Amino acid sequence: MNDLIDLIFDPGHGGTDPGAVGPTTKEKDNVLVLAKKTAAYLDATGGFRVKFTRDTDKDFCNGAYYNENLDLKNRVAVANDLGGKVFVAFHDNSCTGNAYGNEVYAVAAGGEGEKLAKAICSRMATQLDMVDRGVKFAGWYVCKWTDMPAVLVEYGFINSEEATILAKMDQAALTIAQGIGDNFGVSVTAKGKEEDVVNDAILMFSDEDYWAAKDVSAKNAGIAMFVRQGATRVVPADALKAKHLFVIGGASTGHVNETLLSGNTKYDTVAVVSKYLG
Ligand SMILES: [Zn+2]
Repeated sequence: MNDLIDLIFDPGHGGTDPGAVGPTTKEKDNVLVLAKKTAAYLDATGGFRVKFTRDTDKDFCNGAYYNENLDLKNRVAVANDLGGKVFVAFHDNSCTGNAYGNEVYAVAAGGEGEKLAKAICSRMATQLDMVDRGVKFAGWYVCKWTDMPAVLVEYGFINSEEATILAKMDQAALTIAQGIGDNFGVSVTAKGKEEDVVNDAILMFSDEDYWAAKDVSAKNAGIAMFVRQGATRVVPADALKAKHLFVIGGASTGHVNETLLSGNTKYDTVAVVSKYLG
């Protein structure tokens, strides 16, 4: 039997708590996508088993009136019950004014948490072409009270660089997965993931289609998302490898099993998607 390394992933916020809110998206949705994509890269290595505190849009107040302290306390209890080698919380940063970049927190210097934070941070610093804010230390509740070494990843500032956050989501997931892999001596490659056949995928015309794409993804149990690249809106090769492709905005890709949800304008596209969602 394979000895898998168990990891606990905690996408921040959820349910009643949106987290930080950007021009078009909410932190709770972005970090759920980021954590799922990161897990997909790690699962593909065959070396890890990723467990989620939440893999849907929920908070941890179990229907009671939302209260942050209760949410965090229950979230930690879920993580400790799941058990794992390390705990990784996923967040988007936000501030008043403008700030940019990524930072990774550990509770304190000198432990396993700092080692993991450094591994993740150095990958993000060198591979994402975003501002590197480095490793920091803070006693975030979820990191302080979980039983295992814990880190908290702040991926971008949703108020200042939402478009970057959305555009680089897949690349960020790969770099975070590679940082975690480095920490445990496991090689994580983009190729490993491509070998998995994606059944359904979504192709967005631009980042502005994320909101509609998110709902189509939710309706189909959380599927891979791609964005057309550059000024000429090139379709990523991986999107065409999916067995079934939802196209949100833009022209047909010619994929043999395509569901075209495009209007003549981005507003028409939203209407077409709404009709599909029913
Ligand atoms: Zn947050």
